[in-house]
Amino acid sequence: MQRDTLVSFEGVVKRFGSFVAVQKMDFEIRKGEFLAIMGSSGCGKTTTLRMLAGLEAPSEGVIRLSGKPINDLPTWSRDTPMVWQSLALFPFLNVRENVEFALKMRGIGKAERRRRAEQWLDRMQITEFADRNIAQLSGGQRQRVALARSLVVEPEILLLDEPLSALDAALKVRMQSVLKTLQRETGITFVYVTHSQSEAFSMADRVVIMSRGVIEQIGTPQEIYRSPRTRFVADFLGSSNLFSGKVRNGTAGGLEIETPAGALKLGGDGAMPAHGTTATVTVLDTKTHLSVTPPLRSVNVVPVRVVGEEFVGATATVYLETPQGQEIRVQKGHDELADLPLGIGQDLFAWWEPKDGHIVAEA
Ligand code: ATP
Repeated sequence: MQRDTLVSFEGVVKRFGSFVAVQKMDFEIRKGEFLAIMGSSGCGKTTTLRMLAGLEAPSEGVIRLSGKPINDLPTWSRDTPMVWQSLALFPFLNVRENVEFALKMRGIGKAERRRRAEQWLDRMQITEFADRNIAQLSGGQRQRVALARSLVVEPEILLLDEPLSALDAALKVRMQSVLKTLQRETGITFVYVTHSQSEAFSMADRVVIMSRGVIEQIGTPQEIYRSPRTRFVADFLGSSNLFSGKVRNGTAGGLEIETPAGALKLGGDGAMPAHGTTATVTVLDTKTHLSVTPPLRSVNVVPVRVVGEEFVGATATVYLETPQGQEIRVQKGHDELADLPLGIGQDLFAWWEPKDGHIVAEA
């Protein structure tokens, strides 16, 4: 266990009957970090969070908070408040009373309750709504009340389950920055469940990517984006071109993978699969280049035909196909593509540097 570990999952399994929702999970949550747990629907994100909150008991393994096992600790005696997508605010209490609620439950006196609630109302900029009913608030205002209500008790860790999914796109982006700032300023550990890559990658210090109850990768957004560890992660992020084939010349000084798109070279760093095995190479769409003629010295050149284009803001995505029918994407700023003829049906060459190809695990 690292010195800054706040929570550890050690061999945690969760079964519902014969169905295994979470399989042998081992990972740590560091003190003061913003950790996002991300994955598609049904992969076990919420179950993981609910086990941490004490709303589900692990079928196997141990969960520790500050080194102490908490498997048998009831929800109410854990220092792990949760903010849900539904927010679960009390409709029969006004905003101030909602924020004061947890303090009242902890037996804190009226004057102190009022003082601490006022502080959080002010911090979340909802003081002017303090006497309103919950029903009289907008979605964004309710979010702020839910956060104030959870944070007023100054917990060590806050669990958030898709709290922004009901908001419109603009408000979502605003609330992401509120959450990130709040986390930085308070130093409270946030564990944030989401299926949204943009939410996870814009706010989190580290991201856990799950699939079918298994952790596929844990790392900083940059590490995961640049070097997806498994084919699943690369596919899930959707920002890489993938090429599978047989490994040749499996010796130091670079590898070649024999793929339907041709023999592709890799840089000498990273995983070195054995000669004759099957391997998959990923290349980021931002690291894949296009030209009208094949570049002179470059290896990894694939003939392609333009099949589609998409322009979003300052970014252009070009969709291409190899003669074997494999799809390739290239993503660039408009300026970088300005000199290329990009109409549908145009023949071009896609290429990349060997150092930009990474081997991923097939599992
Ligand atoms: P979503 O993004 O859709 O909320 P998730 O990744 O949070 O998905 P979980 O809610 O953790 O997924 O569920 C993981 C799996 O466990 C799903 O297949 C779900 O149907 C199953 N599951 C969750 N709770 C129960 C339960 N109480 N009884 C039986 N199966 C359950």
